[in-house]
Amino acid sequence: DVITEGNVTFESLLLNGDVLKGLEQSGFRKPSPIQVKAIPIGRCGFDIIVRSKSGTGKTLVYSLIALENVDTSRNETQVLIMAPTREVVVQIQEVLTSIGKYINGLQVKSFIGGLPIQVDKENCNSCHIAVGTPGRIKHLISDGCLKTNSIRLFALDEVDKLMESSFVNDVNDIYNSLPGRIQIVTTSATYTDELEGFLQKYMLSPIQIVVEDTTPLLWGLKQFAVVLKPHTNVVQQMKIKTEEILEILSRISFTQCIIFTNYQTRAESVSNMLNQKGWNSSYISAAKSQSERLAALASLKRFNCRILLSTDLTARGIDVANIDLVINYDVPVDAVTYLHRMGRAGRFGSLGACINLVSEGPDGGPTFSIPMLPDFNGNVLDLINEKVHC
Ligand code: ADP
Ligand code: MG
Repeated sequence: DVITEGNVTFESLLLNGDVLKGLEQSGFRKPSPIQVKAIPIGRCGFDIIVRSKSGTGKTLVYSLIALENVDTSRNETQVLIMAPTREVVVQIQEVLTSIGKYINGLQVKSFIGGLPIQVDKENCNSCHIAVGTPGRIKHLISDGCLKTNSIRLFALDEVDKLMESSFVNDVNDIYNSLPGRIQIVTTSATYTDELEGFLQKYMLSPIQIVVEDTTPLLWGLKQFAVVLKPHTNVVQQMKIKTEEILEILSRISFTQCIIFTNYQTRAESVSNMLNQKGWNSSYISAAKSQSERLAALASLKRFNCRILLSTDLTARGIDVANIDLVINYDVPVDAVTYLHRMGRAGRFGSLGACINLVSEGPDGGPTFSIPMLPDFNGNVLDLINEKVHC
């Protein structure tokens, strides 16, 4: 058993009976290594910086700390959880609701942009655990709807993303509206040294909890670079990529597949092309309305479709257990994004493949002068085990 740790059980983490029942009902049997390491320390109230690879169960780390912490006899928001995308927020809320279903009266609410704020405002009045994206949470706090004075635990999932320039001001404002001394838990598969320094400003003597390995890659995932025929312009390059995608889908057996592109328009056009060729697919990008985005992901999760085209919108955090094939139609912009995209397959130790369509030659093809992971000295192509020429 690669992913779970020895004989440690959820009972041995001394969780309360309602939570144990919820875990069992949701199909969780044994804690993963990062859960074993982080949950007891987190439950003691320490600020913790949690790092382990994609798909190793980080959601349950802050979720179990939150569920153990919450007092449902008081109608107050006591836990705030944030994540960078709306889809991940909804997923976290579903996990908490599922595991917390035996906790009497527990209210877990999600707050995301793109959906009517009036409903959120009402939900703020009965919410023990709030899960949201920074923009909507900030809005609700500054309108006086989401009360922060009883918040004791603040969890930031995909924290390196949340600290990027597009979010950091909102996160900072939210942090400043919280009570002076609260517990902070951060999780991600990828941290930089700068980020850890920065987090010290928010956290009180944080403890780093890391499940380390010699490689940043997932053991069950095999990676391939398909080196494409040379092209002379982008139109021709797209045509070559499209032919290759059709070839891959028909030759490889997979359960579910996610295909990443670097552009919204490409996600849509490749999905349309696949549908025309008889490969039922859906796409998700920020160009869709929020309800369409959630519907596209739900159809993948419910197995109504096997193929999802996506921008980096779903590169992080999204958990679909049956995805065993990730295709990079376009090579991602950096190594961190590569690791996150790849991690949509190989969830919780499952097997899978990541196939990269790599163009060589002039014009539009990806270059490999890519910013590196701090502890990684090669380029993205060096991460890949096998090159296939076509
Ligand atoms: P991460 O956030 O580390 O990428 P997730 O929290 O999304 O990973 O978990 C990945 C998958 O593993 C999810 O489908 C989750 O339900 C499952 N999982 C997490 N912890 C356990 C466990 N202890 N036992 C079995 N499955 C688990
Ligand atoms: Mg996660």
